[in-house]
Amino acid sequence: MPSFPAPLVSRLPEVGTTVFTVMSRLAQECGAINLSQGFPDFSAEDVLFERVAYWMRSGHNQYAPMAGMPALRAAIAAKVQDLYGASYDPEHEITVTAGATQALFTAVAALVHPGDEVIVFEPVYDSYVPAITLQGGVVRRARLAAPDYRPDWDAVQALVTPRTRMIMINTPHNPTGTVWSAADLQRLAEITRGTGIVVMADEVYEHIVFDGARHESAARYPELAERSVIVSSFGKTYHVTGWKVGYVLAPQALMAEFRKVHQFNVFTVNTPVQLALADYMADAGRHLRLAAFYQEKRDFFRRGLAATRFELLPCAGTYFQTARYTAIADLPDTDFVEWLTREVGVAAIPLSAFFGDGRDEKVIRFCFAKRDETLEAAFERLGRFC
Ligand code: PMP
Ligand code: GLN
Repeated sequence: MPSFPAPLVSRLPEVGTTVFTVMSRLAQECGAINLSQGFPDFSAEDVLFERVAYWMRSGHNQYAPMAGMPALRAAIAAKVQDLYGASYDPEHEITVTAGATQALFTAVAALVHPGDEVIVFEPVYDSYVPAITLQGGVVRRARLAAPDYRPDWDAVQALVTPRTRMIMINTPHNPTGTVWSAADLQRLAEITRGTGIVVMADEVYEHIVFDGARHESAARYPELAERSVIVSSFGKTYHVTGWKVGYVLAPQALMAEFRKVHQFNVFTVNTPVQLALADYMADAGRHLRLAAFYQEKRDFFRRGLAATRFELLPCAGTYFQTARYTAIADLPDTDFVEWLTREVGVAAIPLSAFFGDGRDEKVIRFCFAKRDETLEAAFERLGRFC
């Protein structure tokens, strides 16, 4: 293939291939147990697949309405009302997206102007900063400090300027498993009060909160909800990350801007899958049981690693467990996960991937959304070397 005949000026010169792709590929090359990228290795229920087949066979295979199938939007509205006591109008305030990544990107594209400042919390999920940069936004970083990775609200307040357009939050938090409290949401409400700041609330792990705590959705707090774009993903909730279907909640004026962009970068999302998800959501137990299901996995995973020299950090939600490895090796975290993948046969994610300056706290992230056999095989390998 001849090369491009002119100098190429990258829009994202600092960006390489996402760590999830890099680590999953390495895991596959090495035949390692893949506890890196976050996805389950078990199946969703057959009944969900049957509903997709049903809707396909009964002829629902053309474009859905731009904002999503009405049945799915109605099911989402009912869930959000039940869980968070918030009323979102399916017609104007709910949009179905091709997963949360698209939702976040589209929201940033729709709402951030060049030169606007956007506050993110570091370690930060890897898609946020490139999305902001591509819009000409200026990233401001608030630190979540190990080992408990809680927000420092005075530091956040100090980052707010008249140019702050957006604050992107993520609870339960990937990669640290931290869950924000009601007090955190109240501080956020105070900091944004009287400003034009939009809160972008990434709540893809909304149903995976442990030890009886409740998920503090921005939707619960009317003062926050009126300035929030809330994102969730069916991939996490129903064990179908490959389907790439999620949704956005926002008050009408924000949603109108969101849809202006959504209609031209995605237009609409897989019709039969939306209809199947609407059917599946009718049984609320399916999402309500998720917390107990993953809490068992978390406990199993933590017990399994207790015999190793990993220092397990707190995990209050998500399906990720972070661990410090300083008692095992003195390597940078990227080298450590490479060694772990190649030599031990277990892949994990280095937390430095979530810091703009590659900060290395010698902490890695394991995904425990795996069958018990998979986790046991990982314990056996880790137990031998770590
Ligand atoms: N936000 C966070 C915090 C995530 O962990 C993920 C995916 N694991 C996403 C967004 C993207 O979700 P989706 O796969 O639906 O695009
Ligand atoms: N969000 C998933 C994780 O944190 C991965 C999604 C992706 O590969 N982009 O592992």
